[in-house]
Amino acid sequence: MNATFHPTRNWLGAALSLIYPEGCQICRQRRATAREGFVCAQCWTQVRFIRPPFCERCGLPYAGELNTPFECSNCREMEFDFRHARAAVVAKTVVLEAIHRFKYSRALWFEEFLAGLLVREAAPQLRAQEWDYIVPVPLHPLKKREREFNQAEVLARHLSSATRIPINVKVLRRVVPTATQTLLSREKRALNMRGAFATAGKLPLEKKRIIILDDIFTTGATTNACARALRRAGATDVCVWTVAHGL
Ligand SMILES: [Zn+2]
Ligand SMILES: [Zn+2]
Repeated sequence: MNATFHPTRNWLGAALSLIYPEGCQICRQRRATAREGFVCAQCWTQVRFIRPPFCERCGLPYAGELNTPFECSNCREMEFDFRHARAAVVAKTVVLEAIHRFKYSRALWFEEFLAGLLVREAAPQLRAQEWDYIVPVPLHPLKKREREFNQAEVLARHLSSATRIPINVKVLRRVVPTATQTLLSREKRALNMRGAFATAGKLPLEKKRIIILDDIFTTGATTNACARALRRAGATDVCVWTVAHGL
């Protein structure tokens, strides 16, 4: 198909511009189309992709030169049940704002921008590896009713169609409506998450290799609680991917 002629996208762009405000949704000054994710070229320059060197376990970028594998101080104190966590970008400036507004203010027009960052970094790596499922971090049903969508699930669907690794939203449930983590210390976050997730009954997880998907990785307390539940149910390998790393 001719690259410039994409009827679905053109139709979608036109439809979105009716519903969504025009222009860059970060600076609200410059032009940005639906196709650009409503983020202008100038704001895009603040996006920082994570490149080596970074922590082998949690993916935290290391500022400076490093030729040997390293583990950051957070990971030296944590026992993780996932093999490693990786993120596409640093959770600062434009990215952090887009995530917060997408999640808490229903700024749904940031979906393409955030999913684009994730897919661009994660898909090439994941396609070269062997994984059975992508499992988005579930919301508790009460919170899902209140927010009306699970941002992790929305992002996971993009990654699933880009990699053809099936998404599985049945295997893991959030059974405790945990309080918000933002003001808690690292230790309290881990404690807060204990027992928050459960696997669903008889679904076969033995020998499965699973990617846990979330929007943002901070201390790893949430994704680790997911990983623990999946490993206990028989998953042999678990890794984590997020759009952004926030430490
Ligand atoms: Zn802008
Ligand atoms: Zn680390």
